[in-house]
Amino acid sequence: MKTQSGFTLMTVDEFENWIASQRVTRGIQLVQLHHTWSPAYAQFTGSNHFALQSGMKSYHLSIDYDDIAQNLTIFPDGQVMTGRSLNVAPAGCKGANSNGICIENIGNFDVGGDTMTEAHKDAIVRVTAALLKKFGLSPASGVTYHAWWTEGGTSLGTYIAGKSCKTCPGTAFCGGNTRAS
Ligand SMILES: [Zn+2]
Repeated sequence: MKTQSGFTLMTVDEFENWIASQRVTRGIQLVQLHHTWSPAYAQFTGSNHFALQSGMKSYHLSIDYDDIAQNLTIFPDGQVMTGRSLNVAPAGCKGANSNGICIENIGNFDVGGDTMTEAHKDAIVRVTAALLKKFGLSPASGVTYHAWWTEGGTSLGTYIAGKSCKTCPGTAFCGGNTRAS
């Protein structure tokens, strides 16, 4: 584990121990999955985790957010970084923030974008599973994609082109961005 600029970088093994020891006082019902779109894989050098995270925080502050938007960031090498405190609602997905934890995945996972590494995919599955376990949630009802929500914050339950606010976490994210995929 390494802490810099208020963020802590962990392997997935370290994250699984860390999350088990965290005291979270908000009620958590949803784990949100997102992609950053930008920065994408091309901006990740293999060693600039903190620079990318600080860059996202600066951008989010510049658009009047109180802090970096996400609670957690997962990198292409499968490492995980803390963001906004777990005890503060993220600015991730309208309708799913007050009881949600926001995971941002570095990359553009729309069709034609980045090809997700195996390390990244493995980390997404394990971090999501550790959060579901921590908060006593089921995979069927405890995971949500940004694309399953409208701009106004209404749940659609899946990605519906033309109705969903975004394609996020990407039309090619782990096989697609629909609930079925
Ligand atoms: Zn998103």
